[in-house]
Amino acid sequence: MTRIYNFSAGPAALPEEVLAQAQAEMLDWHGAGLSVMEMSHRGKEFMSIAEQAETDLRELLRIPSNFKVLFLQGGATSQFAMIPMNLIGRTGKADYFRTGSWSKKAINEASRYGSVRISADTEVEGKFTSVPASDAVSVSPDAAYLHYTPNETIEGVEFPYVPETGAVPLVADMSSTILSRPLDVSRFGLIYAGAQKNIGPAGLTIVILREDLLHTPLDGTPTMFSYATHAESGSMYNTPPTYGWYLAGLVFKWLLANGGLAEMAEVNRRKAQLLYEAIDASGFYSNPVDPFCRSWMNVPFTLADAELDAEFLKQAGEAGLKTLKGHRSVGGMRASIYNAMPEQGVGALVDFMAEFERTRG
Ligand SMILES: *Cc1c(COP(=O)(O)O)cnc(C)c1O
Repeated sequence: MTRIYNFSAGPAALPEEVLAQAQAEMLDWHGAGLSVMEMSHRGKEFMSIAEQAETDLRELLRIPSNFKVLFLQGGATSQFAMIPMNLIGRTGKADYFRTGSWSKKAINEASRYGSVRISADTEVEGKFTSVPASDAVSVSPDAAYLHYTPNETIEGVEFPYVPETGAVPLVADMSSTILSRPLDVSRFGLIYAGAQKNIGPAGLTIVILREDLLHTPLDGTPTMFSYATHAESGSMYNTPPTYGWYLAGLVFKWLLANGGLAEMAEVNRRKAQLLYEAIDASGFYSNPVDPFCRSWMNVPFTLADAELDAEFLKQAGEAGLKTLKGHRSVGGMRASIYNAMPEQGVGALVDFMAEFERTRG
C-alpha cells in the first residue's frame, strides 16, 4: 500500500493513525459485536462515543461551560442560513466582513433574512488578498452579530487576530482553520465548521455557541433549523451523523495524544513557513496574499508561466503529490496543509517544486 500526500482543500487528508484505528474497529467496536455505523444513536455504546467526543473537543479548545457544542448535518453552507434565522431577529440587522469567496456566500444568504451591512470589504480589482487592519474594523452597535471568515479557504487569506466587537456577538466560519491552533472561545458568540477540512469526514458540522444566543429564532424557522432544538436534545432530535461524529472523536483523541493545539500550532506554523519561504525565494512561484495574513492552512501559488500548470500537476501527481490544482476562481495551484498533512509531505512538495523550477522554470 502506498498512500499519497493529499493536498485537497476538502474533503481533506485524515491522520493515517485515525484511519487505521477506524479500520481495526470497523467490524466490531470494542467487543460490541457491531460497527459504529450499525449502532442505535440512542444506545449506550454510541452515547459513550458521542459524549467522549464532546468532552475531548471541549478539552482541546477549552470551551467554557456556558457554550453548547452541536453535532449537526448540512455543512457550513446550511449555517449561512441557520445563523441569521436564529440570531438576526434581535435587531433585524447584522454586520459582515467581505473578505473572499466564502464570506460572499454567507452574505448572500443572510441578506434573505434581514438587513446586512458590509462593515469591511477587501476586494480590489476582483481579488481578495488581504484582511482589514485590526484597528480599522468597526461594528454597528445595533448589529445582532458580526460575521466573518477567519480563513478564506479559496484565497488563502487568514485573519492573524480576532476582531474586537464589544457587546456584539462575534460569529466565525472556522471550517478551514478550527483546531489548527489554540483559540479563546470566550471571545465568540458562535463558531461553526464543516468537518471535512480539519475535523473528520464530510457530513458532520460542528457548531459551538453561547447559551444566551439560543432563543431568538425568526418566526417560521423550521424545527430542524433552530439551534434550541439541537441544544435541548443533545444533537439527537433526529438521527445525527453517527459515523462522522465517531471519526471526529478519533481525530480529537489523536490531537490530544500529539500535544494538543499548542503543538499543532507549532507544526502548522513550521509547515506554512517552509512553503511560503520556498515560494518567496523563487523567481518562478508566487503567492499574492499580504504576508501578514497568509493562511497557515491553504496556500495558493501560481507558476510564472501558466502554460506549465498541466505539466506541474502531472509530474507532481507522479511523485505522489496530489490534488494541488487551485480553485477555478483563483487559478494556479493550492496546497492545503491541514493538521493531518505531515511535515514530510510539505517537505516533499517543496523539494518537488525546486526540482520542477530547475528543469522547467
Ligand atoms: C468548505 C467551506 C465551506 C463550505 O462547507 P460545506 O460543508 O461544503 O457546506 C464554507 N466555508 C468555508 C470557510 C469553507 O472552507
